[in-house]
Amino acid sequence: MEIKELMDFINIEDKRLKEKFGHYADQEKRTLARTVKLGEEFGELCDEILSKMSLQRKEKLTEKDKENLEKEFADVIITTLLLAKSIDVDVAKALENKINEINKRY
Ligand SMILES: [Mg+2]
Repeated sequence: MEIKELMDFINIEDKRLKEKFGHYADQEKRTLARTVKLGEEFGELCDEILSKMSLQRKEKLTEKDKENLEKEFADVIITTLLLAKSIDVDVAKALENKINEINKRY
């Protein structure tokens, strides 16, 4: 998948969410809601990683599969991009700048 295709999806999903949760009329509330949502999704990813490493209780391990781990990585990325959109951060540009910065270290 190209980053352009991903960002097009984010724009569409942003519109869908605004229609579905129309009561978040202002940008501040939307940003706060998405920040909290990112915390939730990161927690779910941590849970999947603990399961993959067999560091969870046995009862929790039985309901996990490989697909869940992949889905939680995707949830964190999508939620991060939606959060960035709500506070007008150009993630594509930020990634390009950060990659250049990292590459200069070597
Ligand atoms: Mg999730």
